[in-house]
Amino acid sequence: MAEKRDYYEVLGVDRNATDDALKKAYRKIAKKYHPDSNPGDEQAEVKFKEAAEAYSVLSDPEKKKQYDQFGHSAFNGGGGAGGGGFDFNSGDMGDIFGDIFGDFFGGGRNRRANNGPQRGANIRASIRITFEEAVFGCEKEIELILKEECPTCHGTGAKPGTQPVTCSKCQGQGQIMYEQQSIFGTVRNVQTCPECNGTGKVVKEKCTDCHGTGYKSAKKRIQVSVPAGIDDGQSIRIRDKGEPGSQGGPRGDLLVEVVVSRHPLFQRQGFDLFSTSPISFAQAAIGGDIKIKTIDGDVLFKISPGTQTDTKVRLKGKGVPTLRNKNVRGDHYVTLVVQVPRKLSSEQKEALLGFDKTMGGTVEVQEETVTAAKDEKSGKKKGFRDKLKENFDN
Ligand SMILES: [Zn+2]
Ligand SMILES: [Zn+2]
Repeated sequence: MAEKRDYYEVLGVDRNATDDALKKAYRKIAKKYHPDSNPGDEQAEVKFKEAAEAYSVLSDPEKKKQYDQFGHSAFNGGGGAGGGGFDFNSGDMGDIFGDIFGDFFGGGRNRRANNGPQRGANIRASIRITFEEAVFGCEKEIELILKEECPTCHGTGAKPGTQPVTCSKCQGQGQIMYEQQSIFGTVRNVQTCPECNGTGKVVKEKCTDCHGTGYKSAKKRIQVSVPAGIDDGQSIRIRDKGEPGSQGGPRGDLLVEVVVSRHPLFQRQGFDLFSTSPISFAQAAIGGDIKIKTIDGDVLFKISPGTQTDTKVRLKGKGVPTLRNKNVRGDHYVTLVVQVPRKLSSEQKEALLGFDKTMGGTVEVQEETVTAAKDEKSGKKKGFRDKLKENFDN
């Protein structure tokens, strides 16, 4: 990269130049090298940008102070001054030069005439599918109102036997030039022709079938192949089912967003599934095979004796198929939750108290507990403790 020129040198002023002198010098250069006056001249564009950069710095008292002290290095550390990344939108340049800078530096210089082939717009639709349909994929059908080329006029919008004629306002260019006064003098601006909307052609006698639009709307049934592994909020692109293009351009696409219903048991995160599975206290303590519900149905899983509540187990490959390869699947993580019974029969209570006794007798037997046990076994007058004794002392 060539060494940057001194900003004062670029504008041709000395270091003590007044604001007014700076502005005057800059206007002169900007006018001379403005891209509108020098179409296709790269040298002019470089000079124009260079002057704009110099002026934006020197016209800002804070930046000027930094520049006077440190030179170009004042702006190299992320200030955006180095290379081509200069920030032309900073400062009050927009206020001074208004439309010209908005147009030139905004990046949106769309001077291209739009009377060539243009791709149609995309259409969005959505479908709701079940959790399982998202996991394993499915075929769906949606109904849409789609615009089709009018068969009578073949999309021209002109009455059969007539042809669209060249727009007289823009001479078929699709855009019109208008002039505006600015501090640089006269500036030319370009606008889409309002007469023909940029197509360069106008229909004199409209096709009666489509009222001159060139399109007819019809209900269409469209097949949507939902791939296995799709997630809530993702979209399926169906090519060429969007709005028709204009001037022979291709159709846009149809984007079908997928809304996945929740599952009562499974939560999904990426391609993994999560669920909780209840196990009884006895299963947890003794261990053995338990049944776990998965998206593929029940599977048997061996738990070891002494399994604690909240133990997490991984069922490898029991998750959601990945979109790229449905044979590659995520995992299913199951949290085992040991169930504490809410209701016990007196028999079960006795058994538990007996068990508790073998564990050192942690349960203090309350009077209500005893009474409740008595009530349940109405008629039996034996005390609860007596019964326990009977069961376990023999
Ligand atoms: Zn028509
Ligand atoms: Zn026109």
